[in-house]
Amino acid sequence: MQADLYDLTREQLRLLFARWGFAPVHAARLWNGLYLGLAESFAPELLPELPEKVRAHLASAARLGVLPVARATDSTDGFTRKYLLRLDDSRHLETVLMRYHGRVTACLSTQVGCAMGCGFCATGQMGFVRQLTPGEIVAQAVHIARALRLAAPCLVSGHPVADPPGRAAAPGKARLRNVVLMGMGEPLHNYEAVMHAVDILRDPAGLALGAERITLSTVGVVPGILRLAHERRPVHLAVSLHAATQAERAALVPVAKKWPLDELMAACRSYSEQTGRRVFYEWTLIAGTNDSPEHARAVGRLLRGLPAQVNLIPLNPTNGFAGGPSGQDAARRFQHILANEFSLPSTIRQRRGIDIAAGCGQLATG
Ligand code: SAH
Ligand code: SF4
Repeated sequence: MQADLYDLTREQLRLLFARWGFAPVHAARLWNGLYLGLAESFAPELLPELPEKVRAHLASAARLGVLPVARATDSTDGFTRKYLLRLDDSRHLETVLMRYHGRVTACLSTQVGCAMGCGFCATGQMGFVRQLTPGEIVAQAVHIARALRLAAPCLVSGHPVADPPGRAAAPGKARLRNVVLMGMGEPLHNYEAVMHAVDILRDPAGLALGAERITLSTVGVVPGILRLAHERRPVHLAVSLHAATQAERAALVPVAKKWPLDELMAACRSYSEQTGRRVFYEWTLIAGTNDSPEHARAVGRLLRGLPAQVNLIPLNPTNGFAGGPSGQDAARRFQHILANEFSLPSTIRQRRGIDIAAGCGQLATG
């Protein structure tokens, strides 16, 4: 199969061109065309600086893994758009574009489906289908960057044309700056491909996503967390906790049986010690299951002494799970206990894109 150019770092592209007998300057021009120009094909008008012979060779020896849009859906919240993108083997994935207050975030998928089997998550309910390649992860970010460019400021109003009236971001702000690896799949179950994609996304001569701008969320794959720390990977780490005792966690997150809570917390402690970074702990609030004051105190005690922030996510509805979200009062009470009794910072994640099933844990493809 032809090489997908989105699979390659800048250095790998240079080496490929050297093997083909083309000068490094052509590799650099192509790189710029792909990540600054966001070219969708090898067409001369998109890559005008490439000589015809290079373009002809590319057309026969390489491919550009652009992911066609099978469906785009806008949430009535005016901030969230979900894309169903088609992969080469006719499978699909979902990518979400969120924009609020001049801040643009892409939520990328790392697998089709997921093997971890969390019952409250639509991706888990569909089971594992396959790993994504680095190129398929990079292509999602490029797709979002392109969508934002298309939403370039309107010449008349100065507002990005794709913004709904009254909600326009400030002109010039519509650049992709934040990526969360929180879409379909478990990123640490596809470690090599995800880290390779992160290297490409971060290239300062490309999409140039800063280290502070990429957050990886894991269900708690302990060996992956230790490896992230050991390799000093420049990403923020979020860990899906959901419960503060082994028995309660194992009931919600099946892989807790493989990587028990005490091992997970030891790995998180070691991660913070080695990297000097705090960890975000995600807590999906399920009414009557893990949202009582006692649950809040248990998580406060569990995280005592650790550099931590808790992200509370009221459960989003999925077809295969009967539980409901905690109400606002329960979420606020939880937050107050963490703050007042444990000085533990937390946020309650805003409910965005729920009407189009673009919220946390709602992504799935048939
Ligand atoms: N596999 C990774 C990342 C993808 S899930 C992980 O589990 O961390 C992203 C986040 O959404 C996780 O914190 C997950 O626990 C949460 N989530 C899953 N299903 C949810 C649901 N129905 N409502 C709210 N959050 C959910
Ligand atoms: Fe997989 Fe994360 Fe969903 Fe669990 S919550 S099934 S790990 S995507």
